[in-house]
Amino acid sequence: MKKKILLIHTGGTISMQTQEDSGDVTTSEQNPVRFQSERLSDFADIREEEIFNLPSPHITPAEMFSIRQLILSYRRTEKIDGAVVTHGTDTLEETAYFLDLTIKEDFPVVLTGAMRTSNEIGSDGAYNLMAAVRVAADDAAKGKGVLVVLNDEIHTAQNVTKTHSSNVSTFQSPQYGPIGIVTKRAIHFHHSPLKREYFDIDSIGKKALLLKVFAGMEGDIVDAAASLDYDGIVLEGLGQGNVPPALLPAIRRTMDKGIPVVLVSRCFNGIAQAVYAYPGGGRMLTDEGVIVAHGLSGQKARLKLLIGLCNGSDINRIFS
Ligand code: ASP
Repeated sequence: MKKKILLIHTGGTISMQTQEDSGDVTTSEQNPVRFQSERLSDFADIREEEIFNLPSPHITPAEMFSIRQLILSYRRTEKIDGAVVTHGTDTLEETAYFLDLTIKEDFPVVLTGAMRTSNEIGSDGAYNLMAAVRVAADDAAKGKGVLVVLNDEIHTAQNVTKTHSSNVSTFQSPQYGPIGIVTKRAIHFHHSPLKREYFDIDSIGKKALLLKVFAGMEGDIVDAAASLDYDGIVLEGLGQGNVPPALLPAIRRTMDKGIPVVLVSRCFNGIAQAVYAYPGGGRMLTDEGVIVAHGLSGQKARLKLLIGLCNGSDINRIFS
């Protein structure tokens, strides 16, 4: 029997068109990837929803939460076997990771998008959508967490990132690679994530900030953030997780206010860890209470911190 797949459209280039005269890319009144269920019916029995039609820089954790709620409500009421979400590629990895952390059941949830609009030559939207539906309908996709499918590759939500501003092969998982591929005849998985995490949340009532550390950075911006109503801060540190010593007093003041400070590396390969014991080094920071998020990018660590805060988790524990 064909799998029942919920297809949710949220907007992005996959739903946009290029204007012939100006070359500008604009949102279409009529989403070009809607109403393709007949085309997709070879692979699945499709239920379709257009929850919104937003460029993905307009997506916030509130929209991510609405997508999660819609998926869970269809799972409960219509017993869907999986879900596919079409999404703008700029923040696709963040929505994917948000859903990965907040959906417990192991049915497939697959995000896809496009780098070329629906009326451009070589448009990749319809193709990526078909590939995503095929993956969501495949038994082997179960239990692998939320997946991202574009350009015939299958990536985990945790590791995938947009690496190129315009190339169709933009989605990569630095250091790890894709966990599977889509071919004309089949879906092939060659890896499986070792562990999954789940946080139950019922609203987005907290704020978390991400700051990129740079040579010569001073503590004023950290103090400013701590004086606003942020509940947690992620620092994308240098190398293995080090910061200029000028940040130290501000980091201490922030933690004294009970605001957790989480450290990741701004390198896109490798992890932050407590190694360097000089002032501002990772060893010193962790000794003082800064929490290291191993192997997550800044934007993913910030989402995990936000979700952990919303769930009332012990922030030290969720990053251990
Ligand atoms: N700026 C677009 C968006 O994220 C890019 C895309 O969808 O590929 O909505």
